[in-house]
Amino acid sequence: MKFGIVSKGDERSNRIQATMKQYLTDFNLEYDETNPDLVISVGGDGTFLEAFHQYIHCLGSTSFIGVHTGHLGFYADWTPEEVEKLIIEIAKTPFQIVEYPLLEVTIRDRDGGEENRFLALNETTIKTAEGSVVFDVEIKGSHFETFRGDGLCISTPSGSTAYNKALGGGIIHPSLEAIQLTEMASINNRVFRTIGSPLILPKHHTCMLKPLGNKRTFLIAIDHFTKNYNNVKSIQCRVAKELVRFARFRPFPFWDRVRDSFVADDDV
Ligand code: NAP
Repeated sequence: MKFGIVSKGDERSNRIQATMKQYLTDFNLEYDETNPDLVISVGGDGTFLEAFHQYIHCLGSTSFIGVHTGHLGFYADWTPEEVEKLIIEIAKTPFQIVEYPLLEVTIRDRDGGEENRFLALNETTIKTAEGSVVFDVEIKGSHFETFRGDGLCISTPSGSTAYNKALGGGIIHPSLEAIQLTEMASINNRVFRTIGSPLILPKHHTCMLKPLGNKRTFLIAIDHFTKNYNNVKSIQCRVAKELVRFARFRPFPFWDRVRDSFVADDDV
């Protein structure tokens, strides 16, 4: 089996990366940065996002696992103290694969139809540097509302505990193939009216955002990457055909992670 390791870059994470690389190589596993079967992320959920985007070209043949060197992560569940155990598991055990849905985002340009397609593990957010965004929101080909406000967030189930949660969105179990649309400070008055609640769309229900008026430049984030897009004609969001694979050597129940991260520690 071929493996790759992505480190957060701090001293502790780099040390764990070096140890894992050495021991796994000693177990005759091959270190391959280009096309690994297993990608180990060492850091936090932010590092996991980096690792995901670094290996986005081989999602169909690569599985991911995370060691967290900070607080408990949603994507990284192994602690630095468990690294030796994890190395043995990786070297000896065929692992189970759990798959989570992803978000597909297609940004189309007004002038020549340039089209950029992205996959997000957490979410996309659409904002503007100045004033409000104004969009026609279409769902499954029908006009749903005209949105005016700070922006919109469209998240995956596994991203529902990230930015989406801070916006009042619901937490969705990643076994559900869905995306969630949450508002950022919508303007609601006699002229503009939005639903005001998060919307959860099933697979194959596409959400299309079409800018209104002259403002066509948007700050669009795909997970942790943010970029300015000019002359935007539409932004299309739907559940992607691709999935992300996680290597599981032991159970890692989603609701336990939610409880441990947001509710309480049983020991307190
Ligand atoms: P960051 O601003 O340095 O960190 C954002 C925080 O979100 C970190 O604590 C990170 O955990 C955590 N996080 C990432 N994915 C998560 C998930 N699926 N569930 C729960 N928590 C999660 O940015 P970053 O590290 O580059 O990560 C980018 C992400 O930040 C975006 O995808 C977005 O979801 C999130 N974000 C959140 C807010 C907000 O909550 N108001 C605002 C902007 C962006 P670690 O510490 O383990 O890395």
